[in-house]
Amino acid sequence: MINAILALAVIGAVLGVILGIADKYLKVEVDNRIEVVTSKLAGANCGGCGYPGCQGFATALVEGEVDKVSRCAPTSAEKKAEIVEFLNTTPGPDGNTLKVSL
Ligand code: SF4
Repeated sequence: MINAILALAVIGAVLGVILGIADKYLKVEVDNRIEVVTSKLAGANCGGCGYPGCQGFATALVEGEVDKVSRCAPTSAEKKAEIVEFLNTTPGPDGNTLKVSL
């Protein structure tokens, strides 16, 4: 009985260490600006911008693949201006801001 408890404790400790290491080295950095930009887009997921959906377009904007918000026709001019202001003034995880326009 004692041996079984000790074996389980050792296995638990080893797995805990492995999970701790995996959390440290395999962490995927998520740029929170993608969520914010997605929430400001029209949400039609129509594909008119050339991306499969609004989150895809937001990701392209945040990753610098696209620099014109006007590729999305359904989003209002007011929301587009908010996106431009947000991306031009909010630094990403690397500390840099983007240069996007309407
Ligand atoms: S055009 Fe605008 S509404 Fe349509 S998928 Fe692209 S970002 Fe979304």
